[in-house]
Amino acid sequence: MRVLKFGGTSVGSIPNIHKVITIVSGELGKSRLAVVVSALGGVTDLLEKAGELAAQKDTSYREISAEIINKHLTFTRELTTDITVQNRIEALCNDLEDQLQGIYLVSELSPKSKDKLTSFGELASSILISEAFRATGIEVHWVDSRDLIITDDQHGRAQVDFPLTRENIQSQLGSDETQLFLLPGFISRSHSGDTTTLGRGGSDYTAAIIAAGIEAERLEIWTDVNGMYTANPKHVKEARPIRSISYHEAMELSHFGAKVIYPPTIAPVMQKNIPIHVKSTLQPEDPGTVISNVDGRNGSPVKGLSHIPDIALLTLEGAGMIGVPGFSRRLFEVLSFQQINVIFITQASSEHSICIGILEQDAERARKAIDAEFNNEIQLKKLKPLIVEKNLAMIALVGDRMKSHQGISGRMFSVLGRNNVNVRAIAQGASEKNISAVIDEKDVVKALNSLHERFFEAQRKQINVFITGVGNVGGQLLGQIKQQREYLKDNLNLDIRVLGISNSRKMCISEDGISLDNWESELDSGVKADLDAFREQIVALNKRNSVFVDITASEQVAFAYDSFLKYSIPVVACNKIAGASEYSYYDTLKSLSRKYNAPFLYETNVGAGLPVIETLQNLIASGDRILKIEAVLSGSLNFVFNNFQSGRSFHDIVQQAKTEGYTEPDPRIDLSGIDVARKILILARESGWPLDLESVNIVPFLTEKNLNSSSVDHFFETLTEDAGHFEDLVKNATENGCKLKYVATLKDGKATTGLQEIPLGHPFYDLEGKDNIVLYYTERYKEQPLIVKGAGAGADVTASGLFADIIKLRKF
Ligand code: ADP
Ligand code: ASP
Ligand code: MG
Repeated sequence: MRVLKFGGTSVGSIPNIHKVITIVSGELGKSRLAVVVSALGGVTDLLEKAGELAAQKDTSYREISAEIINKHLTFTRELTTDITVQNRIEALCNDLEDQLQGIYLVSELSPKSKDKLTSFGELASSILISEAFRATGIEVHWVDSRDLIITDDQHGRAQVDFPLTRENIQSQLGSDETQLFLLPGFISRSHSGDTTTLGRGGSDYTAAIIAAGIEAERLEIWTDVNGMYTANPKHVKEARPIRSISYHEAMELSHFGAKVIYPPTIAPVMQKNIPIHVKSTLQPEDPGTVISNVDGRNGSPVKGLSHIPDIALLTLEGAGMIGVPGFSRRLFEVLSFQQINVIFITQASSEHSICIGILEQDAERARKAIDAEFNNEIQLKKLKPLIVEKNLAMIALVGDRMKSHQGISGRMFSVLGRNNVNVRAIAQGASEKNISAVIDEKDVVKALNSLHERFFEAQRKQINVFITGVGNVGGQLLGQIKQQREYLKDNLNLDIRVLGISNSRKMCISEDGISLDNWESELDSGVKADLDAFREQIVALNKRNSVFVDITASEQVAFAYDSFLKYSIPVVACNKIAGASEYSYYDTLKSLSRKYNAPFLYETNVGAGLPVIETLQNLIASGDRILKIEAVLSGSLNFVFNNFQSGRSFHDIVQQAKTEGYTEPDPRIDLSGIDVARKILILARESGWPLDLESVNIVPFLTEKNLNSSSVDHFFETLTEDAGHFEDLVKNATENGCKLKYVATLKDGKATTGLQEIPLGHPFYDLEGKDNIVLYYTERYKEQPLIVKGAGAGADVTASGLFADIIKLRKF
C-alpha cells in the first residue's frame, strides 16, 4: 500500500482538487492507496480565529463562521450533485454554528473544545473530497481517522498510543480488498472517546502513522512546492529542491522550521524504513524530494537551512552558579513543569550563565516561574533576575556530513559577520548535524540569503548598489553596469544589481532592482530626495552585500559616510571631500571601515580611473617604502598649460577650459592649486602621513590680484589685467627649453604643489591633453620610478574607476 497526503493548498480550490483526483487515479491499480487530506486551505486558521473571537464575546466570529460555511457549501455544489452529500455537509456546518454559539455563551475555548472545533476542517474536507472522487466514478472508502488513531488526552497536541493505533489500522485497512481509502488528517480520538488533534500541520503525521501501521511501501507528501528545499523558498528565491535527503537531516530541518514536513512525521516511518516522497500537486511531474535511509556520503555536507521565528532568549546568570550543582536541574524542572519547550541551550564553560531559547509566547510565563524558583538566590544577589530578550529568531545549518568537514561553522559565522548580522547565541549539537544561532528577527531574511549564497549557490555573489548623484558620471556608470551585467555573471559569478538611485531632487529604491533601461523615468516618478531617508531605506531593506556609491561633490553626503559604515555598508566615492577633510574624520572613516568590515574605496579621488591609490596600497602592503611621489594630477591645469604658448592670451585659454568643461564652474578651485593639493593630501595620508590640507605647501602661480578677486567674472578680468605675468612665465620656460606643468610632490612627509619648468626628457614633458601621471620612488623603485599614466579626467574613465571599486567588493 501507498499512503498519499494532500495538504491545504492542494485541496484549497476546485481546480486543485481535480488535480488531486488526477494524481490519485494515475496511481490506482499500481498499489492499494490510502489518501489523507488536510482541511481546505486556510480553514484551520479561520476555525481557530472564530473560536477565539467567540470566546472573547466578539460577535464578528459569525462573519468568519459564515465564510467557512459558505466555502464548504460552494465546494460541495461544485463537486457533486448528490443531494444527500449536500445535506451531510450542511449538517456538519450546523453543528459548527452550534458549537461556536456554545463557546460564545460560556466565553471559553478550552483545549478540548478547540480540538472539537478544528476537527471540522478535516472532517468536512475528507467527506467532500470522497464525494468528488465518487462523482468522477472512482470508488472510494471513507474512514474516520478517529477510529484508527488513539491518543492520550493532551488536547492540541495529543500523544499517540501506537500499539492500539497499529492494531486498529491493520484491522481496518489491512485485510480489506478496498483499493482506495480516504481519511481526514490531523484528527484522532482519546482513550476516553473525545476528539483530539495531533498539532498544527499534523495531517502529515496522520499519514505517517498510517504508513507505519500498515507498513506501506512509501509515504507521499503532496504539497505546494517541489519537495524539501535548501531553504524556505518563500524567503530565499534561489532555494532549490533537495533531491535526496536522509531521515535525520529532514528531521533536523523540519524541527528547525522547514514547515513543509511536520516534525513528528518522520520518526514512525523511519523506524520501518519507509521512504517519504515530497512532491508538488501543482507540478506532479517534478521528481520532488526523497527522504530515506540514504547514506549521506554523496552531495554537499550542508543540506539545508531553516529558521524558527518568534524566539525569546532567557539568560540566567550570576557568580552564585559557578561550581554549584543543581542549578540547571532546577531551571529545566521549572520549565518542564510549565510545559515550556526548550529549543536551544548554551552554557559557557565558566558556568557563569545559562542561556535558553524558547518560543516568545512562553517568555513571560517562564520569567515568572524562574524568578519565583530562584527568588532566594536573587535576594542574596547570588543570581541576577532572569534576563529575557525578545524579537529574536533561530537559524540553523543542517547536514549529516558537517561532522567530518572542518570550517563550516567558521564560514557560517564569517558570512553572518560580514553582513552585519549580530549573533546573540550559538549552539552546535555534539552530533554536529546542526549548527544553530540566535539572531535578531529583522536579520533573518538577510542571514538566510547570505548563508544560502555561501553554501548552495554556484558561488555567484550579489552586490546591491545604491547610487547618489546620477548626473554625467552616474549615468555613465549605470550604462557600464548594464552593459557588463551578463559578462560579470558568466565570468566572475557576480550579479550586480542597482537597487537605489538618487540625485539632488528625487530618489527611488526598489527591492527587486531598478531597470537599467529606463532608470530616468523610474527616478522621475520617485520621491523627494532626502539622504537620511535614503540611508534608512537601505538599512531597512537589509540586503546583503549592499554598497553606497557617492558620485556627488556634496559635503553633506561626504560627511554622512560614517553613518553608512556603521551599518557595515561599504562606501565607494569619487567625491574627494571626505578623503581630504580634517584628518580626524578621514581617520574615523578608516577605523569604522575596519571595525565594521565595510570597505571605504575612493580610487577615483586621484587620477579618475587610473590605479593610483591601489598601486600605492599594494606597494605599502608588500613592504615597500615610499621615498617620494611626484605627480601631475590636474586635467584642467594640463589643458591650460598644454595650450598656453607665447602669443596666446592666458585669459582666453582659461575661458576655453571652462567652456569645454575642463575646470570646475569656479576655475579658481583648479587654478589656485587647491584641487591638486587635496589629491596629494590623499596620497600622503595613504602613504601613512597624517597631514591636513593646511600643511600642504601650495606655491601659487596666480597673482595676488587673481587670488583676491571677488567673483568668477572679476577673476577673469584680473587675468587680462595681469596678462604680462603669465606671458613672462611661458616665455621664461620656453627660453629654458622647458614646458610648464603643475606638479605635486610628496617627500619626507611634506607635500608641495606648484608650477614647474619641466625640461625635455623628463617623464612629465610630453604629457598630453587631460593625462595624469604619478611617479612613485620607493625603496624598490629607487632609480627608475614606478609610473602610472593615462587619462585622469572624464566621465567615462571616472565611471569605470567607480565600477572597478564596486567589483572589488566581491572579495570582501
Ligand atoms: P501543506 O498545506 O501542503 O501541508 P505547508 O504550508 O504546511 O503545506 O508546507 C509547505 C510550505 O512549507 C511551503 O509553501 C514553504 O513555504 C514552506 N517551507 C518552509 N521551509 C521549507 C523548505 N525547506 N522546503 C520547502 N518548503 C518549505
Ligand atoms: N489543517 C491542519 C493545520 O492547518 C493540519 C494540516 O493541515 O496539516 O494545521
Ligand atoms: Mg503542512
